[in-house]
Amino acid sequence: MKESDFRDVFVRIRSDLLIIDDSIMTDRHHASNGNYEDDDPQNQIGGIIPAFSLSGWLRHGMEKVVQERDGTACHPGESNANFRKDDVYSRDLDAGYHPKGDCLEDEDGNGCVILDLFGGFGNRPGKVMRRPIKFSPVRSSVDYTRGQAEGHYRRLNRNIVSRNRGDNREPLRNAEVDAVANLDGCWHLSFRETKPEFIALLAEAIDYLDAHQTDFMHQLGGARNFGGGIVDCELVNPLYNETELRRVFDRGKGETQKMEEKNEKWENNHLHEFEGALAERIKEGP
Ligand SMILES: [Zn+2]
Repeated sequence: MKESDFRDVFVRIRSDLLIIDDSIMTDRHHASNGNYEDDDPQNQIGGIIPAFSLSGWLRHGMEKVVQERDGTACHPGESNANFRKDDVYSRDLDAGYHPKGDCLEDEDGNGCVILDLFGGFGNRPGKVMRRPIKFSPVRSSVDYTRGQAEGHYRRLNRNIVSRNRGDNREPLRNAEVDAVANLDGCWHLSFRETKPEFIALLAEAIDYLDAHQTDFMHQLGGARNFGGGIVDCELVNPLYNETELRRVFDRGKGETQKMEEKNEKWENNHLHEFEGALAERIKEGP
């Protein structure tokens, strides 16, 4: 592996509806010039999907991959947090987790592969940087090579209505939720240090998340009971150049022969080798 080759990778993310609680940042005040109407279909609002939810979603997928390979994953919480009282923590430890940071007592001091990637124990930096996704409704202005997406900002209203017949379903409470509809774009991940097992774990986790996209546990963000956060995802072949990366998102064009060759090369020459490294790393134990 020429490690420098795989420092920046992209995951294609598609979702009909994504609700990141209240934390989508929009530029509507710039776009609207003070005349913004929530329900105006002409509004050209873009924004940013912060990386927190994306990161948790990916991490959970990676934990599953480690567990399916008979390893244990770092517990994401601190061992002294309140959930320990509720037996939740010890239940998690029985279900494929080890106490966060216990794995740091290994020889190289890197911990398990999950801790190595995500960091966070005693201020350790994670070796994968998860960037936010910038989205825009105007496809021609989306730069996929910079980890951007086409997406349409929507503000949804949820009314909690009275159950009393005499009230004629009068709203008791009204909540506004920020959402992104018809999202299609790139999530840019950068490795501060690349290791073959990192790439293999990413590739397998993205496959896992795609296959389990309607599992409640593996949907992304909020409103999951209502079909929010069902994500089609795939790792964009890291061998693609920028032109090929853009072509992935061009609905009018398919793969070139060169891209097909690169797909075969990726599968046969790289991924298998990386998966071997992942198996080895997990076998070493946490
Ligand atoms: Zn660990």
